[in-house]
Amino acid sequence: MEELIQRAARDLVRSRHALALTGAGISTESGIPDFRGPGGIWTKNPEAEKKAYQAYARFQADPKQYWEERLSQPSLLGSLESLKPNPGHLALAELEKMNILKCTITQNIDNLHRQAGSQNLLEYHGNAFRLRCSSCHSRYDPGEYDLKRLRQEGKLPPACKECGAPVKSDVVHFGEGIPADVAEQSLEQASLCDLMLICGTSAVVYPFALLPRVARERQDARRHRAVTIIEVNAEPTPLTFENISDYLLQGKTGEILPRILEEVKKLRRE
Ligand code: NAD
Repeated sequence: MEELIQRAARDLVRSRHALALTGAGISTESGIPDFRGPGGIWTKNPEAEKKAYQAYARFQADPKQYWEERLSQPSLLGSLESLKPNPGHLALAELEKMNILKCTITQNIDNLHRQAGSQNLLEYHGNAFRLRCSSCHSRYDPGEYDLKRLRQEGKLPPACKECGAPVKSDVVHFGEGIPADVAEQSLEQASLCDLMLICGTSAVVYPFALLPRVARERQDARRHRAVTIIEVNAEPTPLTFENISDYLLQGKTGEILPRILEEVKKLRRE
């Protein structure tokens, strides 16, 4: 492991445009269960998975009922308000501050990268602390709507202040398209990068899982390995098995990423 940590640090220091891609695994050490890991929400409760697959269809069919349910039931991931970023999130934020990571693209909706200080952040599946118009994609702070009052007055769903269409959670539900702005910027980053550090994702949720494949195919088209793809994950993934990634650091992101950061700092001092 020590050798791989040093290799990752060297690759990061040499890179010109490094990206981090993250998934639910980077947040498990902050107390949020993932979906498909051994203690994951889907692994333990397949019924919850079926229900999640229907959320977007429910919003489309009856936005008022969707909001009634949201306001009366606890969130699937539990209460996210009191959670704090862990050393994995903090290491990525520091690598960005050092101008080594140029951008982080996360599937997570938990706001922990932002709390950790990551600034150039693309939240591919949205953010649980924001609302989004289902038509024009304007984003809102939930505080901009008095949801309790709207519910009491029978005025749900909240209406977009720009175009009047129903507003939903900013979280991208299964079956819902990725908002065009985030999808385009993520694809652009994947096409620009010369290094991807992929942390805590099973890499089976599409279209996010296409991003490493886009980077790899672009490079193969040029017939040289110009892109280095590194995984930090508790277990191998399809990216490992299909040789999309160059190497896997198998273990916890909260332990491995700070060790990579320390090595990067040593190399910078040399
Ligand atoms: P996933 O549950 O499919 O996979 C998580 C991966 O991380 C697994 O391979 C697991 O073994 C690994 N892992 C777990 N803990 C780890 C740790 N401490 N260190 C390293 N690896 C660890 O998650 P996914 O690929 O992100 O896909 C799930 C989808 O569900 C995403 O789209 C995401 O939006 C959503 N989700 C988000 C959160 C969150 O915001 N924190 C939590 C659960 C699910």
